Amino acid sequence: MFERLPVEVVFFGEPFDRDAIIHTLRHLAMRIGWTFRPRAERRIIYATTENPLEIPVREGDLVILSSHDVKKHMTESRAGIPLRGENAERFPFYHPKANDIHQRGWIKADVIAGAHALFNLLYERKNRPEKRDGWMRFTEDWWTAAGFARPEPLSDFWLNSIAFEAEKIGWPRAERQGEDAVSLAPGTVVLTHDVDYMPTRANRGMPRFLRAVLRQLLTRRSAGQAWQIMSKYRKAFFQPVPYNALKSIADEETILGAISSFQFTVKRRHRSDPVYDLRRYYNTEDDLRNLLHRGFEVCLHGSYRAGRTPGQLAVEKIELEGILGMSVSGHRQHYLNFHPATFFPELERAGLEYDMSVGYNDMSGPRAGTLFPFRPYDMEKAKPFSMWEIPFILMDTTLATTYRFSSGEALDHCIDQIRPVEKSGGCVSLIWHQEQLSGLLDPGFDRIYWILLKKLKERGIRLTSGRVVVEEIAALWNQTIGD
Ligand SMILES: [Zn+2]
Repeated sequence: MFERLPVEVVFFGEPFDRDAIIHTLRHLAMRIGWTFRPRAERRIIYATTENPLEIPVREGDLVILSSHDVKKHMTESRAGIPLRGENAERFPFYHPKANDIHQRGWIKADVIAGAHALFNLLYERKNRPEKRDGWMRFTEDWWTAAGFARPEPLSDFWLNSIAFEAEKIGWPRAERQGEDAVSLAPGTVVLTHDVDYMPTRANRGMPRFLRAVLRQLLTRRSAGQAWQIMSKYRKAFFQPVPYNALKSIADEETILGAISSFQFTVKRRHRSDPVYDLRRYYNTEDDLRNLLHRGFEVCLHGSYRAGRTPGQLAVEKIELEGILGMSVSGHRQHYLNFHPATFFPELERAGLEYDMSVGYNDMSGPRAGTLFPFRPYDMEKAKPFSMWEIPFILMDTTLATTYRFSSGEALDHCIDQIRPVEKSGGCVSLIWHQEQLSGLLDPGFDRIYWILLKKLKERGIRLTSGRVVVEEIAALWNQTIGD
């Protein structure tokens, strides 16, 4: 039987947001098996004071030091999170009197505020105009100015520092045993396929084929690969419709014991949207029905402006549910075109249970500094949002067009990115576009997806859909607060 450790959170001084602190701490509690409740023997003291000596500490208490500068930064500053230390060992919001503290069990930086700022994309919220269309490039975010070459799992590192410190002062360590234990280890990868293109029987994917050839010539500057697509397309033309890999993806994933989510837009509303009309498509093809019957998940791929248009995600979710005849829980925004200040409220308003849009189009890695699902927090209303965010850290087209990797390099890169997820028992999603897996986009990038899946499976990593993960993680989350 798995015993959760009861922990009390005590506030000393006026924190930047009491509910946000408890909410952020629950992410750690979920992973390591703590339950917050009043009057527990183990106490975390979250202290907001300029004078640490005045904090009333008992033997065995864990102290997290914060100062009034934290709230000031959160509300007034447009700068990135202030950090101190070297490379990955950097801590956020160092306390001004940190150098005077030498006791065990004291965390001299406000690691909770740091994780809260990263989870909620605070820098982007403050600095990017809400009306500006498009997605956040990695170099526009705060990382580069802070000296990072890539996103790092800093939120995880900061929250974990609390667990490490607790262990140092003798708190019992949660063991991952028993049926009700923390069950994410040894890592989960949520497989997702954005469906940005569907051919018709009449055009046989010809428009996509022409774009794919141009993409090889202009973006990837590879005449050889353009030639490969042309000769492959010639063969595919006489077989099942080119660029429709829905069935073959489901077949191969089933053989591997994997399951995945497919993100569909409902219809074209903007020139950057996929060109298909799902209502018409669904009536003429049985691919969607086939996916659903086999336990695969269909999620909404919000149209280009949906995440920025009040009420639009809700409309599209209802439309998709009408077509499928069943409820939809997951979402990813097409082109990641969103602003965090308006996007998260729109997801909640639509009644979506989870989203997978937090990542970069032009860089692999954890944009919110975490390799775990998390719940964004409504900074305006000072309360948690109802939905989950499953971060995505890898996308096929980023590897092909931004990094311009060969397929072999791309495979090594994917393994490198997933290694820390495996190590920490995390859970992230990755995107491999539907049309990529038809083999007619970036030659070799279909094959490495299947090699990657086999390698992950060999390492004991679970390959599943978002809905499965969210159900499990919501159950773990509920156990982090006692009566
Ligand atoms: Zn898309």
